[in-house]
Amino acid sequence: MQKGRIIFHIDMNAFFASCEIKRRPELKNKAVVVARNDEQRRAIILSPNYIARDKGIKTTMSVKEAMKIDPYIVVVEPDHAYYSEISKTFMKFLYLITDQVEQGSIDEAYLDVTETVKKVENPLMLAQYIQTTLYEKFDLPCSIGIGPNKFLAKMASNYKKPLGITIFRKREIEKTIWPMDVGKMYGVGPKTKAKLNSIGVKTIKDLATYPDYNRLKTVLGNVSASTLYNWAWGNDDSKVDPNRYEDVQSISNSNTFMYDVYDVRELKQMLKVLVNTVSDRLEKEKMQAYTVSLQIKYGNFTSISRNKTVSIPVTETGEIYEIVEELFIENYDETKAVRLLGVGLAKLAPRIEKEIKQISFLDNLEEIESETQIDNLVKDVEEKFGKGIIKKGYYRKDNVRKD
Ligand SMILES: [Mg+2]
Repeated sequence: MQKGRIIFHIDMNAFFASCEIKRRPELKNKAVVVARNDEQRRAIILSPNYIARDKGIKTTMSVKEAMKIDPYIVVVEPDHAYYSEISKTFMKFLYLITDQVEQGSIDEAYLDVTETVKKVENPLMLAQYIQTTLYEKFDLPCSIGIGPNKFLAKMASNYKKPLGITIFRKREIEKTIWPMDVGKMYGVGPKTKAKLNSIGVKTIKDLATYPDYNRLKTVLGNVSASTLYNWAWGNDDSKVDPNRYEDVQSISNSNTFMYDVYDVRELKQMLKVLVNTVSDRLEKEKMQAYTVSLQIKYGNFTSISRNKTVSIPVTETGEIYEIVEELFIENYDETKAVRLLGVGLAKLAPRIEKEIKQISFLDNLEEIESETQIDNLVKDVEEKFGKGIIKKGYYRKDNVRKD
């Protein structure tokens, strides 16, 4: 287990929109949305800036819906090549802070600053420096979350946007993350939220204290159940891994149509077939995947390739299809004929089931024990949780369920 780490999660605010405003400063005080500019305005909004968000315009709304809210929004066509250039530039800046940088996606990164903060007065000052520099020198607003692990740092960065800096400590989970709607939890998308709601789990606390772990496993699948359960207790022992993006292993499959296809149902049907074949391979290799990709080639030979990296690795056909469909809906241009569809899985890792941990402060207990600070800790814990809690903790620890 990692002892006393300090992790930053840096998340760019409205990244695509911020990139557009960076090169077109005249848009700065306007409501801007990044979306394909099709005639019927059916395209999905990929990124609204904060002026648009304040009016109630959201990611995944169609341009048409957004224009009902504000007919004067500026619609800017997405330029993914440009966004990845900007992404590389700010990642380079983050590498000046520490070499322990793990890129989470095009617009976010985890930094293990445990060593770096020893050189400055406190983590907060370092976070302020990073935020101010990104804003003033790169024109990129960001939120920063600080925590003892990647999960809590991620939850913290999401807490205040734009330009927030938030610290989530492990001992404060009852006050910070537990009251939150379970849908606010990293890794819980709309479908997982619906599944959790169906068994009465509404808040993160409900998940952490859910009395029937086997039921969770049945509803969520083994990997998701153990990951989410550990996270609900503020536990995450995954390391900031600078090389995570260098994984070259992948599984993919594609299909070239004999004719031009415009029919969405037919395209989705083919995506299902492709997803089935790649998920079979994944199953056979006993692997799980962190990145799902989609390729579309149109009849006019233009081609796009998009991917999504997820927090909880996917293993099941349904999970993979959910992401493929999302990428398809966001990127498919229905005015063009499709010639080829491809689906891929990357960032593969062997399937391992993590054991679940229930009592988070016991971790601290074991660490500190060796430093003979046990008495102070007991007092500290009793003050926070009431007398007798330590005994209860040991009791529950004996009952930690293993998968
Ligand atoms: Mg972001």
